[in-house]
Amino acid sequence: MGSCIKVILITCAITLVQMVAAPAYGYVTETDCDAHVSGGSADGSDEGALDNADACDRVDGVPVITALDTRALALGTHYFYYRAGEQGTGNPIFVPIIVVKGASEGPRLVLTAAVHGDELNGIGVIHQLIRSLETETILGTLIALPGINQTGMVASSRHFQMAAGGGAMVDLNRIMPGSRRHGSMAERYVWGLWHNILKDNADLAIDLHTQTRGTAYPLFVFADFRKPVVWQMAKDLMPDIIKRDKGQKGALETTFVKEGIPAVTFEVGAPKQFQERLIDRAVAGIRNVMVRHEMLVGTVTKPLLPPVIGSNYTNVTAQKGGVVSLHVRLLDPVKKGQHIATMADPFGRELQRYYAPHDGHVLAIATDPLREAGTMLVRILH
Ligand SMILES: [Zn+2]
Repeated sequence: MGSCIKVILITCAITLVQMVAAPAYGYVTETDCDAHVSGGSADGSDEGALDNADACDRVDGVPVITALDTRALALGTHYFYYRAGEQGTGNPIFVPIIVVKGASEGPRLVLTAAVHGDELNGIGVIHQLIRSLETETILGTLIALPGINQTGMVASSRHFQMAAGGGAMVDLNRIMPGSRRHGSMAERYVWGLWHNILKDNADLAIDLHTQTRGTAYPLFVFADFRKPVVWQMAKDLMPDIIKRDKGQKGALETTFVKEGIPAVTFEVGAPKQFQERLIDRAVAGIRNVMVRHEMLVGTVTKPLLPPVIGSNYTNVTAQKGGVVSLHVRLLDPVKKGQHIATMADPFGRELQRYYAPHDGHVLAIATDPLREAGTMLVRILH
């Protein structure tokens, strides 16, 4: 017993020595922030990161902020962690922000990704776009949030994860702009993002998504056709499909548009993967929007193929659970009555055939062949 305690004490002593000897890196407190003040931005400036006490906090050398004014930032690329709230353990939740401040004044374009935590192509789009930009050639400012829904991303889930009520899952893109004092953790989280980061730093916005798990979209834009600037943005993104859409209550796109900030929802393929071809095309589309708004020098590009445009879509849904085989692919034109899917039982015996309810184009498909009753098999735009 005595030797066992001795071993524990020695182990503790070694650990203590290691902790003391470790460099003050990873999380820097207010008291030593001066020594590390140049860690988070290309030019060493922290101006524009409001709340001085928090700007002195750092995680892995990156300044932690609670609000942002990009107008006050210096030229260059800046990285921040926005402190968006805390878990029930008290541990903070950080949302990464990249700001590319251009050589002169111009529009401020906000890009957001992973509002749904399993929709990841938008992260690839933001990373690739940022790598392709040279600060000196940008007019205006790009503000990118490659990972809004941090708890959903960790859980590989569309939904924001909360412990409340024995475990709650919230769709952040239905509760924008949230609630400050009387809301749930999720409502306060988005309230802070909207008021401290997004609303006052945006002249234009693109919210990057994908279809949900088990399904796929092509390159597809939801756009409020009643706003000419929004409609132009949708076309400049050069997607395969544009849906004329008045917006959904509680969606980030709708919240921007209501605020008078032109915005679209940009759907980039399928969840939980990086689809390189679609990411390349999405980056080209966003660069095209930046050219249109004179954030980049160049000529606005027209797509090789004009987008399919529609105002409505219909989901063909499974009437019984089973194993589905599809007979159409994304973007295929379909005719009313066309055989588009066949459902089989666990033994492979045919259960039911599904037919297109009207003419149109295939907007979304099930990629997971296991379908529950009531889930989408094929979505047809018309
Ligand atoms: Zn989404």
